[in-house]
Amino acid sequence: LDERFSAGIDVIKRLEDRGYEAYFIGGCVRDLLLNRQVADIDLCSSAKPEEVIRLFSRTIPTGLQHGTVTVLWRRKQIEVTTFRTEQNYANHRHPKEVQFVSTLAEDCKRRDFTINAIAMDKDGRIIDYEHGVADLERKQIKTVGHPEERFQEDALRMLRAIRFSTQLRFSIQSATYEAIKRHKLLLQHIAKERISVEFQKVMQADAVQQGVRLLLDSGIAGDIHPFSGVTSAFQSFSTFDLQELSEKERWVLLLFLVADEEKALHFLKQNMLPKLLSREIRKLTKLCYAYPTYRKATHFSDLMLVQLGQENVFFLLLMNRLVTSPSNDYLFEQKLQHEQEIIRSRIEHLPLQAIEQLAISGEELAKLYMQRKKGQWIQQALERLLLAVVNREVENERDRLIAFMMESEGYE
Ligand code: ATP
Ligand code: MG
Repeated sequence: LDERFSAGIDVIKRLEDRGYEAYFIGGCVRDLLLNRQVADIDLCSSAKPEEVIRLFSRTIPTGLQHGTVTVLWRRKQIEVTTFRTEQNYANHRHPKEVQFVSTLAEDCKRRDFTINAIAMDKDGRIIDYEHGVADLERKQIKTVGHPEERFQEDALRMLRAIRFSTQLRFSIQSATYEAIKRHKLLLQHIAKERISVEFQKVMQADAVQQGVRLLLDSGIAGDIHPFSGVTSAFQSFSTFDLQELSEKERWVLLLFLVADEEKALHFLKQNMLPKLLSREIRKLTKLCYAYPTYRKATHFSDLMLVQLGQENVFFLLLMNRLVTSPSNDYLFEQKLQHEQEIIRSRIEHLPLQAIEQLAISGEELAKLYMQRKKGQWIQQALERLLLAVVNREVENERDRLIAFMMESEGYE
């Protein structure tokens, strides 16, 4: 067992010592039974949040209004949520307030899918009121209770069904899937942050292709914001061999397939990705839109190789090849590697590999030409020098570069 389960067992023991019930529940039990890596440890308990806070010396009130307290135990974080039901769903969203209940059975009833409602006690005994284990064996996603009702209560569950189906490579039970098709429009009431969280998980999953197809087939990608703006990109995206691509590459490919840069970047913005990832995707997407036809090594001049750098050039080769190659091109990988090899060798044989390696800097140029105001001309001068060095008109040495500058500007 994972070390975090043993921390969870300690927390359960202490709760039980004080007369409360407590169990492992949800994702950690599901993933343990599936032999998958466990993301985080969640417990449910009859203890109220105040009681959990009182019992443990280090706690974080993570979501008191939902009954959740995070217990810090031997440098591990264990989430403890009080047995509860959800009532008064307003506008098909999860409720702001919840009601505490006294039994595990009632708590399981409010959970989304049977496979997420399996509990386990500290000795590893499974307690399975909603028959989730059978659905794990059948590899299916099925709502706890009536799918119609459950999706009307909280529409996000429809997207979660597709997300879990994608992550686990499970099918969606037919009544559950039919209900998704019928009620998909209710997703319009859900905050875009929550939609984005689920969609990002689809994009990260190995079976991303299955997820995108479900989004299309269910009608969600066609009708629900923000997907509805880029439906045709989704259609063509679903025909690629996406499993081979990294998360970043998948995003850029999808955005490139939108075929309208502004629209694509708008879609990206609406998917609140982590800042760094988002910035990187944005940069690469703009690159693809700037050079949409560069799919062979011969398309790149020496100057471009230095200015873009090997990594960006490889990225352009990959993306432009992907979108222009027939999907059954079994030589794709070899052809790509061949072009990359040419690029690699060309860059290696250039007098320099990046503008930063120029033997003179913008600062120095500014000092040499003190009479001029700083401005665009510095960048332009650097690029002119770079071109000259790449074309072997001048050697990459400080004094020679200065002489070259003076000459070309008419100074003697
Ligand atoms: P992951 O591995 O992605 O964390 P998870 O099953 O732990 O998967 P969470 O979103 O962390 O998913 O939620 C924890 C548990 O809370 C779920 O297993 C499920 O029992 C319950 N749950 C979460 N969201 C909902 C919801 N919208 N409606 C009903 N139950 C939910
Ligand atoms: Mg979780």
